Amino acid sequence: MDLNYHSKLLEAAVSEFSRLPGIGRKTALRLVLHLLKQEKGDAEALGNAIIRLCNEVKQCAVCMNISDNETCPICTDSSRDHSIICVVESIRDILVIENTRQFKGVYHVLSGIISPMDGIGPGDLTIPALDERLKQGGVKELILALSATLEGDTTNFYLYRKFHSPDLIMTTLARGVSVGDELEYTDEITLGRSILNRIPFEVKSEK
Ligand SMILES: [Zn+2]
Repeated sequence: MDLNYHSKLLEAAVSEFSRLPGIGRKTALRLVLHLLKQEKGDAEALGNAIIRLCNEVKQCAVCMNISDNETCPICTDSSRDHSIICVVESIRDILVIENTRQFKGVYHVLSGIISPMDGIGPGDLTIPALDERLKQGGVKELILALSATLEGDTTNFYLYRKFHSPDLIMTTLARGVSVGDELEYTDEITLGRSILNRIPFEVKSEK
């Protein structure tokens, strides 16, 4: 049952908060009331941070990571190995892998995963940009670090078919990441080890 808020402003704020993932209207109301109790400056700082994020955040022109500049700090870091590209589904995966401190290559964010059930095909992903990067040369290894799910396997297979060549090593995470696991939920040590002990990507029982 919906409450009568007696204030259009309050109702509008609750509606906006409740659009966030995992936030129902009850929680939204609690958050809004909490903000109202804070110093005015605190709520304004939150609002400004969101506005700045929306207006100023960019997508790295190279790897599609989130970035404050045209190119993200990972892509501009000359101490990293630019000959190894780790392909991930989302920006969250970069954060998780970086947290392991075991990977010194660079990334490519696919911005999704092939999922026919959800109507997501290869054309919806950043595969052309990856193709461009590979064509520019200098890349020796592509690590397929996607979720060990059916969709992850489908995407891995598509990428393998598209990009495999004698000049490119294609690897995948060692199976510390168990089937059905999403990278985000894998513990740091296991994930770090999975990257260090990565294995050649093999196509399973292609008939
Ligand atoms: Zn980048």
